[in-house]
Amino acid sequence: MDPIIIIGTGLAGYSVAREFRKHDTETPVILITRDDGASYYKPDISEAHAKDKTPADLVQKTAEEMAEMLDATVRTHEQVEAIDREAHQVKLASDTLTYSKLVLAWGADPIVLNLAGDATDRIHKVNNLMDYRVFRDHLAAGSHVAILGAGLIGCEFANDLIQHGYKVSVADPAGWPLAQLVPEAAGDAVKTALAHAGVDWHLGHAATGVHHGGDDRYHVYLDDESHIDADVVLSAVGLKAGTELAEAAGLDVDRGIVVDRTLVTSDPDIYALGDCAEVAGHWRPYVGPLMQCARTLGKTLAAGADAEPGQVKYPTLPIIIKTHVCPVIVYPPVDKHGEWQIERDGTAVEGRFVDGDGQLRGFVLTDEATNKRRDYIKEAPALLD
Ligand code: FAD
Repeated sequence: MDPIIIIGTGLAGYSVAREFRKHDTETPVILITRDDGASYYKPDISEAHAKDKTPADLVQKTAEEMAEMLDATVRTHEQVEAIDREAHQVKLASDTLTYSKLVLAWGADPIVLNLAGDATDRIHKVNNLMDYRVFRDHLAAGSHVAILGAGLIGCEFANDLIQHGYKVSVADPAGWPLAQLVPEAAGDAVKTALAHAGVDWHLGHAATGVHHGGDDRYHVYLDDESHIDADVVLSAVGLKAGTELAEAAGLDVDRGIVVDRTLVTSDPDIYALGDCAEVAGHWRPYVGPLMQCARTLGKTLAAGADAEPGQVKYPTLPIIIKTHVCPVIVYPPVDKHGEWQIERDGTAVEGRFVDGDGQLRGFVLTDEATNKRRDYIKEAPALLD
C-alpha cells in the first residue's frame, strides 16, 4: 500500500496526521520536513520571554517522539524539490517517494524587503523555531532591536521584548500598528500602550536600507532620511503562502494553493491546508482555521475514495493578538461592504463593523473591551458555515 505523504511538520502537518490516526491506524504515513521536525506551538514564540521560555523549552516533542506517537515515518532535514503528479511521486534531493494521497502543509515564507545597504544579510526573520533560536542567540542584555513591520508579529515581538529589558524601535509605512487588521482607533490604542511601555515608533515611514554602523551595530535608514541605531534588526513585514512548487506541478494557485471546502486541490489526490492553502477563497494564516481543516481532512483521508468528503467549516474564529500591554481581539469583516462604528475609552476600544442593514460583520476589541468577546463571537457571522 503506497503511503499518505504529508509535506510539512508544522501545526498543519502534525495536526492532520494526528486527526487521521484517530480514524485509521493501518495506512502508512510519511511526513517530510526541511527542518528538525520538532513539534512546537508556533504562537508561543512571540511571547517566549513573557512565558519565561528559551527556544529549547518551546519544543513539545522531538521528531522521533512524534514518529512514535503517530506511528509514522518523519523524515527531517529533507526538502521536497518537485511533485510529479502523473507518477504520484515526490522528489527529494536524493530520493523519490510514491504516494497514494499527498497533503501539502508546507506553510508560508516571510516576505523579504528589497533594501539597500551592506548589512541586509544580517536582518533576522522569525517564522519558525530554528529562526527564533538564531534571533535569541543574537540578543544580549539590553540590546536595541529595530523591528521592520508593525503587523501582528512585529507588535507581539515589540511587546515581548520591551517588557523584558530590551530597547525596541518599530518602523512601518502605515500610519498605525496592525493597519491591515484593525481600524485606526484600535491601532492607536496599541501604539499608545506600547509607547507607554517604552517602544519608539517610526510610523508612516518605510525602511530603505540597513547598513553596518560599527561595533556590531546597524543603522536602519527610513524614507525621511532619519535612521535607527540598533544591535539587532528583525523583519516582520508579512508572509507569502508557499505556492511555487504547487504552481510548478500545475496546481491552481492564487494567494495560496487553491482548495475547496473539502481541502482538495485541482488534483483529486492532492490536498492542502495551513498557511500554504487558500480555502474557498480565504487565505487565513492562523491556528484556528488550520485546526478546523485538519479535523475535516483527517476524516476524509481515512474515509476512502467512495465516501463523501467532509466540508470544512470556519465558525467565528477571531484573531487574538498577544500584545499583553493592550490585548487585541479582531474578527476581520467577512465582507468589505459596511463601516466601522467605534467607541473608545482610553486604550479600551470597541469597534463594530456593520453592513447597510446594521448587521455585525466583524469586530475589534482592545484592552478592557476584550472582556466583551463572548457577546461579539455569538453575534458575528461564521466565515464558512
Ligand atoms: P509552518 O509552521 O510554517 O510549517 C511548515 C512546514 O513545512 C515546516 O515543517 C517546514 O519545514 C516544512 N516545509 C516547507 N517547505 C518545505 C519543503 N519544500 N520541503 C519539505 N518541508 C518543507 N496564529 C494564531 O492563530 N494566533 C497567534 O497568536 C499566532 N502567533 C504567531 C506568532 C508568530 C511569531 C508567528 C510566526 C506566527 C503566529 N501565528 C499565530 C500564525 C500560526 O502560527 C501559523 O498560522 C501556523 O503555525 C502555520 O502552520 P503551518 O503548519 O501551516 O506552517
